Amino acid sequence: MTNPERNDWTIAEITALFEVPLMDLVRQASAVHVQHHDPNEVHVNQLLSIKTGAGPEDCGYCSQSTHHNTGVKPEPLMQLDDVVKTAKRAQAQGVTRFCMGAAWRDVKDNAQFERVLDMVKEVSDLGLEVCTTLGMLNAEQAQRLEEAGLYAYNHNLDTSPEYYDSVITTRTYQERLDTIAAIRTTNITVCCGGIIGMGETQTDRISFLHQLAILSPHPESVPINVLSRVPGTPLENAPDVEIAETVRMIAVARILMPDSVVRIAAGRHLMSFSDQALCFLAGANSLFTSERNMMLTATTPCADHASDRTMLAEMGLKARVLEPTTH
Ligand code: SAM
Repeated sequence: MTNPERNDWTIAEITALFEVPLMDLVRQASAVHVQHHDPNEVHVNQLLSIKTGAGPEDCGYCSQSTHHNTGVKPEPLMQLDDVVKTAKRAQAQGVTRFCMGAAWRDVKDNAQFERVLDMVKEVSDLGLEVCTTLGMLNAEQAQRLEEAGLYAYNHNLDTSPEYYDSVITTRTYQERLDTIAAIRTTNITVCCGGIIGMGETQTDRISFLHQLAILSPHPESVPINVLSRVPGTPLENAPDVEIAETVRMIAVARILMPDSVVRIAAGRHLMSFSDQALCFLAGANSLFTSERNMMLTATTPCADHASDRTMLAEMGLKARVLEPTTH
């Protein structure tokens, strides 16, 4: 392979990539993409909020935090049957990875976790890749998720270590890294990325990508979110993110982590088809779709199945199909 995985990227090297003219950078990233992936294939994921609202953390971007007045109504953990029905509908639409999110700080060893384990088992038995994002957990809990059939665990670093406490004060960067290490004691794959548009500087973006790129191994999946500005959160008036900035993040992520799946996640609803085409050219090969134009809750919008099918068809891209043996 021309670009073997490197976990020793330096800040200086990443800074140099940020200085490459954008179209040159896209060409460079595109070459890496073609070497490591089928460039006409896109992974289609769907998120379900299985436990909405009353989030105890103060994440400045979050619609579900009790620290902000966003109007999101707290709901109890969903029932198993409802989750399985949603997963079946998603699968019928061509979704191959089903992600379940809970607005928890951490996983507790209680009846709710047992129910989540049942969800993981049943959704996995449908033949979907299952991902959960439940907050912090320990190695024993990761092992139980693995035994239930979990394919991936999402735990985002979100931004640079230097900027982290400007966005979140109720947990530390090190706690995020510790949870990722707990996942790595199992064979569950890691989904780890972050958000741009929270007022961070270019130096922070470089430092954030550096943190991802020195993880060993790299996260198998790297979601790049563009902040969805939620009214009532401290970041409701954050500045716009130009598409060129998103494309640069994707291109640099692709060059640093050639084998990872790079996902365009939150904020995609604000991008035109041509914006998204640039993201795919720069090395993105995955997207989050939805049933009703909503990502996780009524306050974070998302493109839906029908518009995504149209877009992929127009671009000649095909949605990845899971081989029965791949999970
Ligand atoms: N309790 C889980 C945790 O602690 O990781 C919650 C996971 S949350 C659903 C997953 C990710 O979604 C966050 O880490 C963040 O990157 C992204 N996210 C949440 N709200 C967002 C927003 N308004 N705009 C962009 N990305 C957002």
